Amino acid sequence: MLKWDDTPSVSAMRCSRAWVEVNLDAVYHNVCLFRGLLRPTTELMAVVKADAYGHGAVAVAQTALAAGATWLGVATVPEGIELRQAGINAPILVMGALHHAEEVRALARWQLQPTIVTPKQALVFAEALSDACLPLPVHIKLDTGMSRLGFDWQRALEFIEFVGRLPALQITSLYSHFATADDPDETEMRRQHERFESAIATLKNHNQLPAHLHLANTAATLTDANALQYDMARVGLGLYGLAPAPHLQSSLKLKPALAVKARITHIKTIPAGTGVSYGHQFIAQHPMTIAVVGIGYADGVPRQLSNQLTVLIGDRHIRQIGAITMDQLMLDVSDIHGLREGDIVTLLGNSASHQITADDWAKGIGTISWEILCGFKHRLPRIMKKKSARELYPTEDSLL
Ligand SMILES: *Cc1c(COP(=O)(O)O)cnc(C)c1O
Repeated sequence: MLKWDDTPSVSAMRCSRAWVEVNLDAVYHNVCLFRGLLRPTTELMAVVKADAYGHGAVAVAQTALAAGATWLGVATVPEGIELRQAGINAPILVMGALHHAEEVRALARWQLQPTIVTPKQALVFAEALSDACLPLPVHIKLDTGMSRLGFDWQRALEFIEFVGRLPALQITSLYSHFATADDPDETEMRRQHERFESAIATLKNHNQLPAHLHLANTAATLTDANALQYDMARVGLGLYGLAPAPHLQSSLKLKPALAVKARITHIKTIPAGTGVSYGHQFIAQHPMTIAVVGIGYADGVPRQLSNQLTVLIGDRHIRQIGAITMDQLMLDVSDIHGLREGDIVTLLGNSASHQITADDWAKGIGTISWEILCGFKHRLPRIMKKKSARELYPTEDSLL
């Protein structure tokens, strides 16, 4: 018998073969930890691009704002519009490249603030906004060593003066982005910082310094919040409870916010010598009990983890066997008794005494936790978990 009925009462979860659980209390906790690293006057931007690294942009943004973030960062215009349509009024920076007049008008319409990286782009913006009644607030980005978006830091003055002459645009901040802030060797990060400082000095001398400056991502904030926070820190990964690198792990007690769970859909025994899954990469050496689980690479479980993944059932580590398939994978459950179809398997997340994180998966296949988190597809429903509002945000009378 399938036991769909003795699960928590969230309907999306009850019917699902697999889902993502997002612990919004963990996001709240992590935002508080980062707020604690920053001066009271430094703003915290919650970077919620890519659907909040797969966690669900609207719920994460609302939680981060409640916990003390004051800005939101996205990569694209539609990501910004999604937040506005959910009723979120906080300032939103679009960090990706925008070139089309349509996008510019959408920015103005939804009050999203773009990143300007070339004079040509500034002209497109000015042209598209020529009949707007208010100037559009924009952020100037310098390339100080990432070699991605941004104008050459050595020509910052010329660029700012150019954009400053366009009445349709109002420069509100100057920023840059680190390439190697998660490297234990800080040389290159310090070099980028010096270049940013050098551009600031030149702009100051010519009375052209924008009102706000920002530079740090999660790694830079964890490495040296003191020197690198400026007027704002743009924090992504840390909000989701992961450290950008092992040497940055110990400084804060971050809580991973995302768990991935799936159900056992089928249990069977196979005789010795039986091959399991495509290509028979795994051959049973003895009679085995295997469990089929309803999640696969089309959901975001990397196929390269085939035969090296472990999952949690109850408080036990269980190994995955054979190739991970598009929608399903198999486990060796020979040593577990009393398992039933419908039982829940934790692929990422906690049990009583164990934890499997996106870092564990990333290490196994030579990638980074960011890519693992962003890899969970929308086929997996997101289940948002949080304590009651009252517990999370104590009111005055509950504090008495
Ligand atoms: C994604 C992004 C961030 C956040 O980076 P994390 O390492 O996840 O903190 C900050 N700034 C810019 C420009 C980004 O693109």
